Amino acid sequence: MTKRALITGVTGQDGAYLAELLLDKNYEIYGLERRSSTNNRGRLSGIKGNIQFVEGDLTDASNIIDIVKRTQPDEIYNLAAQSHVGTSFTMPEYTANVDALGTLRLLEAIRILNMEDVKFYQASSSEIFGNSPTLPLNETSPFQPCSPYGVAKLYAYWTVVNYRQAHNIFACNGILFNHESPKRGEEFVTRKITQAVAAIHHGSSETLKLGNLNAKRDWGHARDYVRGMHMMMHENCADDYVLATGYARSIRDFVEAAFARVNIPLEWNGEGKDECGINPKSGATIVEIDPEFYRPNDLHHLTGDASKAEKTLGWTPEISFDQLVTEMVEFDVRNYRL
Ligand code: NDP
Ligand code: GDP
Repeated sequence: MTKRALITGVTGQDGAYLAELLLDKNYEIYGLERRSSTNNRGRLSGIKGNIQFVEGDLTDASNIIDIVKRTQPDEIYNLAAQSHVGTSFTMPEYTANVDALGTLRLLEAIRILNMEDVKFYQASSSEIFGNSPTLPLNETSPFQPCSPYGVAKLYAYWTVVNYRQAHNIFACNGILFNHESPKRGEEFVTRKITQAVAAIHHGSSETLKLGNLNAKRDWGHARDYVRGMHMMMHENCADDYVLATGYARSIRDFVEAAFARVNIPLEWNGEGKDECGINPKSGATIVEIDPEFYRPNDLHHLTGDASKAEKTLGWTPEISFDQLVTEMVEFDVRNYRL
């Protein structure tokens, strides 16, 4: 029988890759999209198959109940969020409303409608760990989030656990470490870097302005991670899983790797706010520090341990860091417009 999935956040990076994966598996897909004055379906272009869009917003409980009732999904993937950590410092209440209470509203819809057979996936995040003294991080590591985003995602995490235990709903948390792709939002550091590298490669005189170069992230590819989401939903029992590559690189490493893809040499000079990246061939400054991009509180180092997902689900990432950087740079070089 054809399975029916409701994806919130279908217009986002993960929503696009997940929709593609599920369409390939012959799912009927309902995609919740926010009303917008412009078309926000750009990431879905090129995907084969039909997505039925429903207009909705995670901040509106009655709308969420109505959508769950109308669409009667077998599986709900809750990917919608105010997903930017930096923005959560300036919009903490909105972030909590969407990321924390939005998850509660969906789970309440399932409970109120007596649809406890629906499976529920929650897009949890490695940000819930914060600056943990012990690495790598797994499902048993302590949670000490250090941003409003992380705090909101932690509320959602425990809400999922609570509804699983109290209401016997098949609800799981995918505690995903950073994952990127050519569909990544342009304000996230990896995409910001690859777009600037593409512009400089095409002759632009722009300088890539960044904040903390020394933060480390465990970066994987979104395509691998949506595969893991689907695997969690098809286990016998609902549970929580870390998905990560197990390798961390700094922002500096990512910058170097991205410029290397287009054969632009890079040398670092100076320290702290005065540090910059120079192209020794042309003498041009191609990277600069801009304190605007420092965060009030940063997460310095994330490395994940996905051995539970590997052992239980058989999930391992297939796309390497080098392949990820190459795909992103090549995409932005190809699509560069003045
Ligand atoms: P994106 O920012 O690319 O996508 C977020 C999606 O949520 C968009 O479709 C956006 O719609 C939608 N959205 C935002 N606010 C609302 C709202 N109030 N009501 C309904 N929809 C809304 O995120 P990703 O695809 O990268 O991430 C998917 C999920 O995974 C998010 O929950 C994120 O926090 C989480 N996550 C992501 C990680 C990553 O590295 N990518 C790591 C760990 C967790 P619109 O297109 O209109 O803006
Ligand atoms: P996050 O891990 O979800 O916060 O993903 P981001 O890509 O937004 O940020 C990853 C890390 O890059 C954080 O530690 C940021 O402080 C650091 N960073 C340094 N410069 C920038 C920048 O210009 N933009 C963003 N978004 N992050 C930056």
